[in-house]
Amino acid sequence: MQRPALFLDRDGVINVDHGYVYRSDQFEFIPGIFDLVRFAVNGLHWPVVVVSNQSGIGRGYFDERAYGDLTRWMCDRFDAENAPIARVYHCPYHPVHGIGRYRADHPWRKPKPGMILQAASDLNLDLARSAIIGDAMSDIEAGAAAGIGLRIRIGTRDARPDAQAHDVAADLPSALDLLRARSP
Ligand SMILES: [Mg+2]
Repeated sequence: MQRPALFLDRDGVINVDHGYVYRSDQFEFIPGIFDLVRFAVNGLHWPVVVVSNQSGIGRGYFDERAYGDLTRWMCDRFDAENAPIARVYHCPYHPVHGIGRYRADHPWRKPKPGMILQAASDLNLDLARSAIIGDAMSDIEAGAAAGIGLRIRIGTRDARPDAQAHDVAADLPSALDLLRARSP
């Protein structure tokens, strides 16, 4: 039996996007994120999956170890808030700025849907009934390419007239209202 999931971008959705964040003292949770995840997990009984481009690794700004340490710290914080994250996927590659083996046009890098498709396979997810929340059009495009039914963009950054259809929410509490209204 397949189940839906809530997919979240990280930088700009979970934490303030200060640019290539890799230490916990740079990691500023955005107001409303714990309520949103609690509703998905405890209200909808959906797993919450993070899908994050992390080209800072490929660019050599920080390494996989630092990223892994921060991810464990982040997940511990969510656990402590009774808002557990089921799985975190990241893509360290960049087609132009990646160094060495990280210079690759990787199918996991959003706007490509690779991370989402991998999660669907790993967790047996129903993507048509799933939702994705991001702050960039690449999040929306990846969600659309994967067949995610509800796509919500936070804020007004990155608007384009030719954009894939999606909903726009001013902030995370508004995104939670949308999710509440649109999920079964
Ligand atoms: Mg983002």
